[in-house]
Amino acid sequence: MKDGKDFSRGSTEGPEIRLGLVGIGKIARDQHLPAIAADARYRLVATASRNDMVEGVPGYRDIDALLAAGHQFDAVSLCTPPEGRADIARRAIDAGLHVMLEKPPGVTTDEVRELVRHAAARGVTLFASWHSREAAAVDAARDWLAEHIVTGGRILWKEDIRQWHPGQEWILERAGMGVFDPAINALSILTRILPARFEVEAATLDIPSNRSAAIAAACTLRSAEGYAIEADLDFLFGGSPSWDIELATDAGPLALRNGGATIELPGAAPHAGPNCEYPRLYGRFHALVEAAEIDADTAPLELVEQAYRIGVQRPSPPFAF
Ligand code: NAP
Repeated sequence: MKDGKDFSRGSTEGPEIRLGLVGIGKIARDQHLPAIAADARYRLVATASRNDMVEGVPGYRDIDALLAAGHQFDAVSLCTPPEGRADIARRAIDAGLHVMLEKPPGVTTDEVRELVRHAAARGVTLFASWHSREAAAVDAARDWLAEHIVTGGRILWKEDIRQWHPGQEWILERAGMGVFDPAINALSILTRILPARFEVEAATLDIPSNRSAAIAAACTLRSAEGYAIEADLDFLFGGSPSWDIELATDAGPLALRNGGATIELPGAAPHAGPNCEYPRLYGRFHALVEAAEIDADTAPLELVEQAYRIGVQRPSPPFAF
């Protein structure tokens, strides 16, 4: 927020940001392009992607060609998979550009911390975005939980990789994080709605024999206060997806469903709101640029690192899309 204006909630005021978009894949097309087009404060100047471009917008093969093409940019938004994204971000920061990162912000927390140092030294904004934190009911859950005591809970994050990530071979490489690519969304919500610090106490990771990342996992997260959150994560779930967080509290259960879009509170009907995640992210990025601030929370990524570090690996059948 700056000068009393809440940019995260759809303000359309403020200076124009001339933007480059890197990695034209599923999320760039599904969410970034519509959010950018709907926000008058952004102008999409050009894109960089090896195999794709956006109609009517100059397109270059990679970040170096984008930067060398002679356009005027203020910022870039990076929608490539996590591996290699830090290198792209570093080049953009070196060119004096503000950078917005898709989730997860890097392959490792060290990589992200180094980017933070680099951006700070260059005086540009770095925004590690967590789109699920902008889901409609997340703020309401955080506000309600601030008044109550949590005693335990569970995360059920289950979806069909073939439906939601068709052909994305990178996602089952270690750097792609496997089932933690979607599940880190749950961890981003958990670490937003609860003040507790969590550690991964135990984990089992089902890793297909021909892959290096987990296709399913079970984790126990332990809060600093001592309660446990059990996480049941499945990338081979054929039914309608489960993107749910259920918490037990001293006042009864709270549930966030549909990836944080719907909240259930004791004695009340479920309440759902519209999906404004990406418009809110671009609003937040604009506010950060205006305020010359960095926002790069690595808490969700730390939990994924811990799960892979301590997790007991169970071989599972080979996987093919
Ligand atoms: P995607 O469909 O595979 O698109 C990523 C694009 O990045 C590719 O189309 C590719 O375009 C480019 N790219 C550059 N280097 C690449 C590499 N080494 N391997 C593969 N592609 C590479 O992936 P996505 O679903 O958009 O996900 C991208 C990021 O957004 C991930 O971090 C993901 O977690 C996040 N995200 C995804 C979703 C979702 O629902 N899919 C939702 C929220 C966030 P070129 O081949 O043209 O270079």
